[in-house]
Amino acid sequence: MGEGSTKTYGIGGVRVSQAIREAAAGLVPTSDTARLDAEVLMAHAQGVTRSDLLLRRMDDPAPAEFTTLVERRAAHEPVAYIIGTQEFFGLPFRVTADVLIPRGDSEVLVERALTAKPNAHRVLDCGTGSGALLLAVLANLSQAEGIGIDRSAAALAVASGNAESLGLRTRARMIAADWSQAGWAEGLGRFDLILANPPYVETDADLAPSVRSYEPAGALFSGPEGLDDYRLLIPQLPDLLTPGGTALIEIGASQTHAVCTIAGESGFATQVHHDLGGRARVIELTLRA
Ligand code: GLN
Repeated sequence: MGEGSTKTYGIGGVRVSQAIREAAAGLVPTSDTARLDAEVLMAHAQGVTRSDLLLRRMDDPAPAEFTTLVERRAAHEPVAYIIGTQEFFGLPFRVTADVLIPRGDSEVLVERALTAKPNAHRVLDCGTGSGALLLAVLANLSQAEGIGIDRSAAALAVASGNAESLGLRTRARMIAADWSQAGWAEGLGRFDLILANPPYVETDADLAPSVRSYEPAGALFSGPEGLDDYRLLIPQLPDLLTPGGTALIEIGASQTHAVCTIAGESGFATQVHHDLGGRARVIELTLRA
């Protein structure tokens, strides 16, 4: 390997700063955030925070395992899966390939939940995945307890681990349940607040390789229009809400009309909330009097 080759990082003598520069250049075709990705992967390889890395470690020798991490990213694996963690609503969540990576776009759902139901006692999260929505809400509503359901046992294990590490184990229960199966909600009771980020992607959608090849299909796809899970779940929500209760459901930007129609047919009034990118992202459902 000659000098200046992009393959020299991670090899004795190369400093962190140079390894990051070379990795960032190599990741440009894969990632819109190539430099950031390289820094985060290097911080992970060094076992330090990104700010520690940038302030204090740039002249250290580059660790050999950085090469492997960068190669995984170059093959489109998301950074969150490589480092095993993703921040959401200011909290650290462990993530594995068994759960969808929590998106910043979903934070508007948590914000709306906290505003709409600051006194909620019982919270249900349908399709909890990593537990991100439920645990972010519980972390900010100290009087509330909640249940996260998922049909994936592997996801429930991740969610339970996150409840534990966030100190919410006594207020959050994770339960195996599948809303396509009759009787799934028996014994759960009623909830002041229901959260859901169900699968809503069209089966043949043109997704980035980092999503289609790495994130769990069961958390993404919901039939040809991406609407199958709304059609199954929303009509069951009236029986799960307390009087005056609120459900907050994440949607894809183009699904506002279709989901509001499904909700209207189940007796709900609807309100649309937008994410920071200005896209319709959350539908708030309240039962019409
Ligand atoms: N926001 C995700 C995406 O666009 C989809 C999440 C979902 O289906 N619930 O990749």
